[in-house]
Amino acid sequence: MAVTALRCKECGTEYPLEALFVCDQCFGPLEVTYDHSGLDAESVKRRIQAGSHGIWRYADFLPFTSRPASAIEPGLTPLVRADRLAEQLGVGEVWVKNDAANPTHSFKDRVVAVALAKALELGFDTVACASTGNLANAVAAHAAAAGIDSYVFVPANLEEQKLLATDVYGTTLVGVDGNYDDVNRLCTELAAERGWAFVNVNLRPYYAEGSKTLAYETIEQLGWRLPDKVVAPIASGSLFTKIGRGFDEWRELGLVEGEVPVFHGAQAAGCGPVAAAFADGHDVCRPVRPDTIAKSLAIGNPADGPYALDLARSTGGSIDSVTDDEIRAGIRLLAETTGIFTETAGGVTTATLAKLAERGEIGSGDRVVVYITGEGLKTLDAVREGFAMHEIEPTLESFAANVPERAAVTA
Ligand SMILES: *Cc1c(COP(=O)(O)O)cnc(C)c1O
Ligand SMILES: [Zn+2]
Repeated sequence: MAVTALRCKECGTEYPLEALFVCDQCFGPLEVTYDHSGLDAESVKRRIQAGSHGIWRYADFLPFTSRPASAIEPGLTPLVRADRLAEQLGVGEVWVKNDAANPTHSFKDRVVAVALAKALELGFDTVACASTGNLANAVAAHAAAAGIDSYVFVPANLEEQKLLATDVYGTTLVGVDGNYDDVNRLCTELAAERGWAFVNVNLRPYYAEGSKTLAYETIEQLGWRLPDKVVAPIASGSLFTKIGRGFDEWRELGLVEGEVPVFHGAQAAGCGPVAAAFADGHDVCRPVRPDTIAKSLAIGNPADGPYALDLARSTGGSIDSVTDDEIRAGIRLLAETTGIFTETAGGVTTATLAKLAERGEIGSGDRVVVYITGEGLKTLDAVREGFAMHEIEPTLESFAANVPERAAVTA
C-alpha cells in the first residue's frame, strides 16, 4: 500500500498515520500523503478493473495498510448520459453521476466507509459524527454493519426523513438545539474528551479521502477520459476539493490524459459563504448563519472553503449560489428530464448547471459531469409546493370529467 503519512496542508509538517487532524505547529488541516512512485499505470489499471464493484477497487489510492472489507460497500454508482437535460440547457454533453444510488442514498457512504475502516484499523470501538443529515444515516448504517457502537450528533431541526432513517440502525442519535456549526464545535470538544473516532473530526483526513473515489469512477465510466467541466456542491468544501485531487492523482500517474477539468461549485444562497468569497475576490470565507432548504449543505463556517476557492479559480471555474426557489426548480428539472429524483443538494447543483448554461459559461462544446449527491425521498418537503393529483371516482365518466388531456409532447 502506498500511503505514507499525514502532512499539514499549510506548513508541510509530517505526522504518523494516527487519529490526528490539526497541525501542532500552525493549526493547519492535515491530509493523507502517498508515495505512488513504485506504481506503473498499466498494472494499477488491471488491478482496478479486477477489483471489487465498489470503492475498494481503488485501494491503491486509499489510506490503509491492508485492503478493507465492508458489508455495505459504496461506490460504482451510475454515470448517466442526460441528453434531454443537455438539450434543454443547450449544453453539449451532460453526464449525471447519481450518488443517491449508494447504500444509504447519498455520497456520504464513501467517506464513512473509509473513515470507519480506518477507525477499526486504529483500534477504536466507538464511532461518532457531527452531521447535517446524510452523514448521520451513513455512520449509523456502517457502524451497524460492522457491529461497532456509534453516536450521531445532528441539529435537532433536521428533515424528519433523515432523523428516522438514522435512528432505525440502532445508533445513539443526539439532536442538538443549534445549527451544524454548533454541533461541530460540541463534537470537537467531545473528541478531545472521549476516546471516540469522530469520522469528520479526528478522522477527518481519512474521511476526506473517500471523496476522491468520485473522480476515479468518473474517469473509468467515461472510458478513461476526463470531463471538460464539473459541477459539484460545496458544504465544507471537502467533496469539491477531493474530486480535484482524485483527477490530479490519476493524471500524474498517467492513468488518464488531458487538462484538469474546470471546477464549478454550487451553494445555496441561504448558506453561501464560499460563493460570497468567490464573488468578492476573497481568499477566506466569512462565516454565515444558515437559512436554506438545502440543509445537507448548511455549513456556515466551511473548513475547506479556502481550498475550494483555490480550485475554482485555478481551473478557471466559478462558485455560484442559488435561491430556495431555484433549488426547487432544479429538483424538478432533473426529475423531469432524467428520471432522477434528488434531494435539495442536487437541486442546488442542477440549478447551478442551469445558471452556468444560461450565462454561457457552459455551452455546446462542453462535456460536463454533474454530481448528484443525495436522494429526493429524504427531503420530500421540497417538492410539496406544486404537487398536483387529480382525485376521481373509479368510473370512466369521472376520469373524463376531471383529468385534462396532456398537451402533445413536442420533441
Ligand atoms: C455532505 C454533503 C455534500 C458535501 O459535503 P462537503 O462537506 O462539502 O464535503 C454534498 N451533498 C450532500 C447531499 C451531502 O450530504
Ligand atoms: Zn502546519
